[in-house]
Amino acid sequence: MKNGLRSVCITSRVGFRFAWKMVKETTYYDILGVKTSCTNDELKKAYRKLALKYHPDKNPNEGERFKQISQAYEVLSNPDKRRIYDQGGEQALKEGGGAGGFSSPMDLFDMFFGGGFSGGRRRGRERRGKDVIHQLSVTLEELYRGAVRKLALQKNVICDKCEGRGGKKGAVQTCPTCRGTGMQVQIQQLAPGMIQQIQTVCSECRGQREIIDPKDRCKICQGRKTVRDRKILEVHVDKGMSDGQKITFSGEGDQEPELEPGDLIIVLDEKEHDVFKRSGNDLVLRLNIELVEALCGFQKVIRTLDDRDIVITVLPGEVTKHGEVKCVLNEGMPMYKNPFEKGQLIIQFLVNFPNRIPPEVIPALENCLPSRPRVEIPELAEECLLMDLDPEQENRRRRPPGPAYEEDDEHPGMNRVQCATG
Ligand SMILES: [Zn+2]
Ligand SMILES: [Zn+2]
Repeated sequence: MKNGLRSVCITSRVGFRFAWKMVKETTYYDILGVKTSCTNDELKKAYRKLALKYHPDKNPNEGERFKQISQAYEVLSNPDKRRIYDQGGEQALKEGGGAGGFSSPMDLFDMFFGGGFSGGRRRGRERRGKDVIHQLSVTLEELYRGAVRKLALQKNVICDKCEGRGGKKGAVQTCPTCRGTGMQVQIQQLAPGMIQQIQTVCSECRGQREIIDPKDRCKICQGRKTVRDRKILEVHVDKGMSDGQKITFSGEGDQEPELEPGDLIIVLDEKEHDVFKRSGNDLVLRLNIELVEALCGFQKVIRTLDDRDIVITVLPGEVTKHGEVKCVLNEGMPMYKNPFEKGQLIIQFLVNFPNRIPPEVIPALENCLPSRPRVEIPELAEECLLMDLDPEQENRRRRPPGPAYEEDDEHPGMNRVQCATG
């Protein structure tokens, strides 16, 4: 049976993915580089990575991109908005009444990272410079064992030569043009008795409120008062730390004259592991076993994240079913600040079934297995043909539109495994 339903690839600025005869808009998912079935945690991680990468502090030319990332996250992180978007795309959001525009990308960023990174912040009476955030990619092994990572960073420090004055002592003068206000007021007479005041940034000092005679200007910093400096930082990654965790270096942000420096913040980014998947303090392992092992028992050696070999045994007589889940206590991730306690190692067994069995061994095999049920075939029963399923079509069938659908990535089930072979 051919019904001619084919997926069509539309390449345009707006992304679409096919879902059950319905075109679904996926632009926001594409911007964040996530699947439409992604979890909230996956969304957060994607936003965190991209927002740090495209923040105007690091990438001044990517303002538009930063904004898109922010808007995509704002919609998808809100379950109501995400549902509306999934059903009808951006258009539906606009029509949905509750649109109300988007937050400022900077505000969203500050809210997400829980600090005042984008603008100056006041702590006590003292004015404080910006915080600086860097992301540090760490392996699961490093989070398991703990690690010290050295990071080379560039930061602004007060110029040693002029001690942050920008020139010789006494060379810095209040700008005479604006008298230190940084602004110039121009008065224009529009008509007799009618004048207009226009305020502009002072052209002499460009709003800096002070000037330095070029010949007295500091040769090291060219009057900028700060210089770029390379700094090696030791980051202590403690056992059991998690993805997204922040490590703060107080006062290690950029220095500016007359400002208390902000903090330097390192955000950990956990790399995906080939073998283990982390779930809180637990580790999840998908382990393939052969059918003979599933039926007759087996032993397996598992290499832990700290390079030990642990052995698991299923005794002969016990059967392991496909998809069955078992656990080993105390072989998960160490708890943060309590590393002698560990989570569990959760093992899901995936049974490799043989593709064919030689017909001549079947009688012997049947003899060993529980007997099959008797099947009565009614006289008028119709004989029909059993066929292989077209996986593409099956995917469409399984993916009805709407919010109810969730891919079972969270609970690694059997569906995906079977489909993957198709
Ligand atoms: Zn001036
Ligand atoms: Zn200087």
